[in-house]
Amino acid sequence: MERRAFLVSLGAFAAASPARAQDAPSWSAPVIDMHFHMRRTPELNIAHQQGAGVTAANLLTRTDSAAAVAPLQAQHPRMFPCWFSATDVTKPDAEKLLTQAVKAGAKGFGELKFPVAADGPEMRRVYALAAELDVPVLIHFQEVSQAAAEGGYNTGIKRFGAILKAYPRTKFIGHADAFWANISADYHEQEAYPTGPIVPGGVTDKLLSDYPNLFADTSANSANNALSRDPAFTADFLKRHQDKLHFGSDCNCEDGKGGGAAQNSDRVAPRMRGKCVAQETLKLLTASTAPEIFRKIAWTNAHRLLGLPS
Ligand SMILES: [Zn+2]
Ligand SMILES: [Zn+2]
Repeated sequence: MERRAFLVSLGAFAAASPARAQDAPSWSAPVIDMHFHMRRTPELNIAHQQGAGVTAANLLTRTDSAAAVAPLQAQHPRMFPCWFSATDVTKPDAEKLLTQAVKAGAKGFGELKFPVAADGPEMRRVYALAAELDVPVLIHFQEVSQAAAEGGYNTGIKRFGAILKAYPRTKFIGHADAFWANISADYHEQEAYPTGPIVPGGVTDKLLSDYPNLFADTSANSANNALSRDPAFTADFLKRHQDKLHFGSDCNCEDGKGGGAAQNSDRVAPRMRGKCVAQETLKLLTASTAPEIFRKIAWTNAHRLLGLPS
């Protein structure tokens, strides 16, 4: 390079650096947030992506909010390439509403978080429908009551192997505290977010190994907490399940930087309060695995699961 051009480019770099530092973080691969609850306005949806340096998001909607998806997708097709739809699975019209959502373009069911058993009749009909329509089902597994979500949802994860076997054509995405606490073999529903080293051989780790139709998203405090417990275990877990995991945030912050009332409330787990879960988990994944595996978890796996071009 000629000296003058070199100096000019150095100057350009120096001028650009401070701006970049204040801007969003950048990750080693493009990122799709597969667990992004659609927000009230287009601006709020966009702000979280930009603040956290996230390329795209899968919008999680209820069947009655699906109409708001179309204009957002039309305006920002790269940022919002896909959406999932959920409805109360205990209601008799659940199958009809979920079918309509898929016909309207939904790429999956979820998040399904209703007070039923994961192997009960309500969810079994959803699993059968998901296989018929060839869309995945995103499930919130919770056994321990919490301030932000009392009671249990999709209970009985320790029995879930029978469901994975009974519905081989259904693609399941595991999420939430009971899913992630059960990667450790010593978990007995003693608390939502257990700490300390992982005991190998946990139920959900085994299910991920044994059943090709089980996937998981790395969203929320539940996944971040589980993957922060034992760095050596985490590195091995990410390596072993590198084709079954995809990134998700389930973050409540407004700006992709931990701001806003919801992410600073006492209903948020203290370790995540005031922080952006998307950023925290992307940092954790970056530190815990090789760039090739990060790319799969952050981008490629989700695209393959949903049949989207990447
Ligand atoms: Zn959830
Ligand atoms: Zn956030």
